[in-house]
Amino acid sequence: TPLSRIRNFSIVAHIDHGKSTLADRLIQLTGTVAERDMKAQLLDSMDIERERGITIKANTVRIEYPAKDGETYVLNLIDTPGHVDFAYEVSRSMRAVEGSLLVVDATQGVEAQTLANVYTAIEADHEIVPVLNKIDLPAAEPERVKEQIEDVIGIEADNAVEISAKTGLGIPDVLEAIVTRLPAPASGDPDAPLQAMLVDSYYDSYLGVVVLVRIMQGTLKKGDNIRMMQTGARYGVDRLGVFRPAMQNVDELGPGEIGFLTASIKQVRDTKVGDTITHERRQCEKPLPGFKPSVPVVFCGLFPVDANDFEDMRDAIEKLALNDASFTAEMETSAALGFGFRCGFLGLLHLEVIRDRLEREYDIDLITTAPSVIYHIYMKDGEQIDLHNPADMPDPSKIDHIEEPRIKATILVPDEYLGDVLKLCQDRRGIQLDLTYAGSRAMVVYDLPLNEVVFDFYDRLKSVTKGYASFDYQMIGYREDNLVKMSILVNDEPVDALSMMVHRDRAEMRGRAMCEKLKDLIPRHMFKIPIQAAIGGKVIARETLSALRKDVTAKCYGGDATRKKKLLEKQKAGKKKMRQFGKVEIPQEAFISALKMD
Ligand code: GDP
Ligand code: MG
Repeated sequence: TPLSRIRNFSIVAHIDHGKSTLADRLIQLTGTVAERDMKAQLLDSMDIERERGITIKANTVRIEYPAKDGETYVLNLIDTPGHVDFAYEVSRSMRAVEGSLLVVDATQGVEAQTLANVYTAIEADHEIVPVLNKIDLPAAEPERVKEQIEDVIGIEADNAVEISAKTGLGIPDVLEAIVTRLPAPASGDPDAPLQAMLVDSYYDSYLGVVVLVRIMQGTLKKGDNIRMMQTGARYGVDRLGVFRPAMQNVDELGPGEIGFLTASIKQVRDTKVGDTITHERRQCEKPLPGFKPSVPVVFCGLFPVDANDFEDMRDAIEKLALNDASFTAEMETSAALGFGFRCGFLGLLHLEVIRDRLEREYDIDLITTAPSVIYHIYMKDGEQIDLHNPADMPDPSKIDHIEEPRIKATILVPDEYLGDVLKLCQDRRGIQLDLTYAGSRAMVVYDLPLNEVVFDFYDRLKSVTKGYASFDYQMIGYREDNLVKMSILVNDEPVDALSMMVHRDRAEMRGRAMCEKLKDLIPRHMFKIPIQAAIGGKVIARETLSALRKDVTAKCYGGDATRKKKLLEKQKAGKKKMRQFGKVEIPQEAFISALKMD
């Protein structure tokens, strides 16, 4: 296809503003998929994504569109993950296309994720076409939202396309706008040495690793010997194709085109997003700029509730790691929890997705330890340690100082909740950087310690704003602070899964809250159980769980045997999710609940 008839684009949107629905309509209207094969949210392939409405992997689809000018255009849509944990992946996908549709829900307006992603698009020099969705709803306010787009984002919105992705209204206008308002790929010499961007990859049990590529220069053919410039790995291309959205083989891909290749690659770890693919024989001069290996920033321990599940868990983790290069797992043993894994994630959402998949797809009950970030520990002897796990904290008397990672958080919130949001950020040791208004919404920017965000910041933000706030963040670096390790002791035994790094000034408050929570969460036993929080040897908070006096079944009426049996069964079922610590049983949910702050 000549460059002039190719349009590569992505769709930028906040969650639930209608990105997937619009993609479905574009695919449907161009007859890319037969009507009988059309199912909702074609591009969101993973179940969990569909349930949570989050697109995790970049997906592409090639659409052929006969435009009003009489020419047939090839439109390549790259659908990107919209979430903050995947900011790097999004930035790479954006580099692979020339334009974006900015989809904004006309009843909601611009949200924090819209902002973050649209800035990424602007950085990638995109032409941007604003699209106002959901205008079928009575609450739609297209004029107000256009103004907001101009005020907040600073791009022209007069000529925004007004649509309803649900009813199909305005979809033909979107297709025309893609052709007339978005640019064709800039240049590209089919005879130049190959330079292609590795946009994403995933594992397929039949094909092995499938790699998504965007050709910048040169031509990629089936059978070619290729080389990944960042990893140095070499492969022979087995299969080349495009997604429509089902796989369709092609013989070659030229400049401006987007497609996939397979090359007997065993694991996605061998394919780094943002790497440059070239020919082994005739290499391009230099790799594409901006490559960055993605590294986990949030860590936690995952342990099976039932030690017998460990082997299953190992298999499950290996399978997940096969398809997710940014998820890391190392075996770990804990005095209290036995065998498990110390896992690394790109962010909190990533952690939740993996934990959910282990529990649901692989049916393993898990204990999740307190999430931790990476602390930089500077020892008095000059050594520097990256601490991933509070359990590995060195002797504090030998530590010179500790640095923690900070983020810049952007929150958009309706006026009436602003006070609560400021309080929340302040409570989490935030430093306000900016506060501006866009219509009836405030935009607050805070410098926050990542460690204060990884516990339950999203949950709290959602609850204090009744779901009306949106949130986005980026890492901004490390800073020294007064940080200590707080341990939790149950019946005088340290429960390392609950130990955490905290700011010294907040340790008492956090310790007290944890002890109170645990007192409610741990069932009473036949003996008295002290619950304590301590720093080093010093106890900073304490609660006592009183002893249980009567048999639980005693309150059942003497004769009712079925009721008694039922109660015992219920107890047994509950037990499965408990874990023994010394003489004390702690329910699984205690580990997550205790970490949430109110
Ligand atoms: P995404 O998270 O941006 O991919 O959003 P979805 O495409 O999944 O849409 C979120 C919700 O909004 C779904 O329940 C859709 O049915 C609904 N939706 C999408 N477009 C429209 C529209 O134009 N009008 C109405 N009324 N609902 C829509
Ligand atoms: Mg979606």
